[in-house]
Amino acid sequence: MSVYILHLDSPLKHARHYVGFASKVNRRLEHHRSGSGARFTQVCNENGITYQLARVFEQADRAFERKLKNCKHTARYCPICAGEKARAYKPKG
Ligand SMILES: [Zn+2]
Repeated sequence: MSVYILHLDSPLKHARHYVGFASKVNRRLEHHRSGSGARFTQVCNENGITYQLARVFEQADRAFERKLKNCKHTARYCPICAGEKARAYKPKG
């Protein structure tokens, strides 16, 4: 099984990420996009918030999913956020 992070292109309330657990992440992502996945992504769809698969942890378990979900710093594990920060901190000119 894999744990995956969805990065929201714009925040839903205070959330920027969704952490999920699936055997076939791409298939699960299709469910999210079609509105048959998690309630969280249904709400994103309803609000026109797009999201993308940021990271997949192969051979992860529920305990790791739980850890990521409880952790308030999911962004640390998100390469998209890391990239945004890297750009933000780059000095100009
Ligand atoms: Zn992110």
